[in-house]
Amino acid sequence: MWQRIQTAVELIYPPRCLGCGDLTEADFGLCGCCWRDTLFIGGVICESCGVPLPGETDGHRIECDDCMKTPRPWRDGRAALLYDGKARSLILALKHGGRPELARPAARWMAQAGRDLLREDMLIAPVPLHWSRLLKRRYNQSALLAQHLGRQTRLEVCPDLLVRRSRTPVLDGKTASQRAEILSRAIIAHPKRTRLMQGRGVLLVDDVMTSGATLAACARVCLASGANHISVLALARVAKDT
Ligand SMILES: [Zn+2]
Ligand SMILES: [Zn+2]
Repeated sequence: MWQRIQTAVELIYPPRCLGCGDLTEADFGLCGCCWRDTLFIGGVICESCGVPLPGETDGHRIECDDCMKTPRPWRDGRAALLYDGKARSLILALKHGGRPELARPAARWMAQAGRDLLREDMLIAPVPLHWSRLLKRRYNQSALLAQHLGRQTRLEVCPDLLVRRSRTPVLDGKTASQRAEILSRAIIAHPKRTRLMQGRGVLLVDDVMTSGATLAACARVCLASGANHISVLALARVAKDT
């Protein structure tokens, strides 16, 4: 019966490519063209921030220069895509284009990229968005990614583990320490949720990781609120030389 309904649904709504809308064979997938234009991160990566690195792995932990110079307040970090080409337009569509349905396949890619980070009993939490931005966009794309990731990994999700109490000013042009200072005042743990993270691993989820300043602020808040260790997982990573 269910099979028949599904077939009927497919006849009415044949699967379309997430990138361009062309008909495609795989549901929630990309057509061959868009697949080639979407840069999935693979090979050698920085274990801390997920950025792709040149060379080969020797089985030891590898970190990029930035992460070695300024250690991250989290343990491991991964990202599914490079923030470029098709990945950029997919994320902008998810963020500003009112296409929340992109979050499900995106979370699947993230689960794949972050498979080494997942631990039993881990708590998934998104990077918070201020309510005024939430009104404008109607949804927090990171919370949406976190929810789908939770469904796929069967890990618990707390969408409001962290909250923004003030609207963060634009951080461009600020020094790293100024940014950290601004963010540490803006992001707090939800007073009613702190018990959830006591002694527990937390996986922080964001759509795009650029410098990692926001994720770092979130990680510090979780550690200060009793979390055991933090890992971060982003849908896309901005590479340093692009
Ligand atoms: Zn396509
Ligand atoms: Zn790194």
